Order: sequence, then structure tokens, then C-alpha cells
Amino acid sequence: MLRGAALRVTRPRLAVLSAVHDHPHADTGSIIDVVRADLGEVSHQAVYDVLSALTAAALVRRIEPTGSVARYEARVGDNHHHVVCRSCGAIEDVDCAIGATPCLTASDDHGFTIDEAEVIYWGLCPDCSTATNTDSRKDSRV
Ligand SMILES: [Zn+2]
Ligand SMILES: [Zn+2]
Repeated sequence: MLRGAALRVTRPRLAVLSAVHDHPHADTGSIIDVVRADLGEVSHQAVYDVLSALTAAALVRRIEPTGSVARYEARVGDNHHHVVCRSCGAIEDVDCAIGATPCLTASDDHGFTIDEAEVIYWGLCPDCSTATNTDSRKDSRV
């Protein structure tokens, strides 16, 4: 994959790519932890640099739901969307709506050639909606 993207293959790049692959939607901190468990001491800056190189090469996709830190995933190029829990921040993948990517057919494309739509569905994950239903006072916790 790295070779195909004309990026030099380095151990940190491989380690970061496999960390992102194994931990979809992980934030930078979790990726650093995984990479360190694999390679030993690696600086934050090194991991940031690798993440931005991989993102620029489209091997990794960066998403940043409102109120969340940046998160990374190795599932790229399929125009999938995300559902995010308002309460705990859990993120899951949602395949593009059925059919030939209808979300790419903008009601007004303003003359742009559109190749991607980034949709975030917001709501409550099953755990959080159960908690809300059984004890609404829990809503007061931040
Ligand atoms: Zn939740
Ligand atoms: Zn995803």
C-alpha cells in the first residue's frame, strides 16, 4: 500500500498504518499508544508527521466530528459516512445510502465536480439511549 502511494516504507509509517487499520476512528493519542507498544519510544511529533503524510497520500482518512478531536481510519475511498453518539462520542461506520451514492447528487452543485460527501449522523448509541431511558437523571452528568 505504501509503495503504491509512492511513500517511502518506514517502520513508523507501517506501524502507524497498521495501528489505524486495527483501531478504526482512533484519536492521535490512542494511535501513539499502539505504535509505542509496537516500536518502543516514538515521539508525538513523529506520529503526527506520519499521520499527515498518510492522510495526504489518501491511505488514511481523517475525520473530526464537532466537539471531538481528529480521528483516523484506514477505510478510504468508499464514501462511507459516520454515526456519532452525542453522549459518549462512540463512532460507527455507515455505508453510503443504498444505490449509486445518492448523497453525491447535490441539490445544487454550484458547478463543482463532486467526488465525496461527508455525512455525520448524530444521535445516541444503544448504551447511551438505554441509560437515558432507564434513568433520565443521568442526563445531568456531563
Ligand atoms: Zn453513547
Ligand atoms: Zn469510518
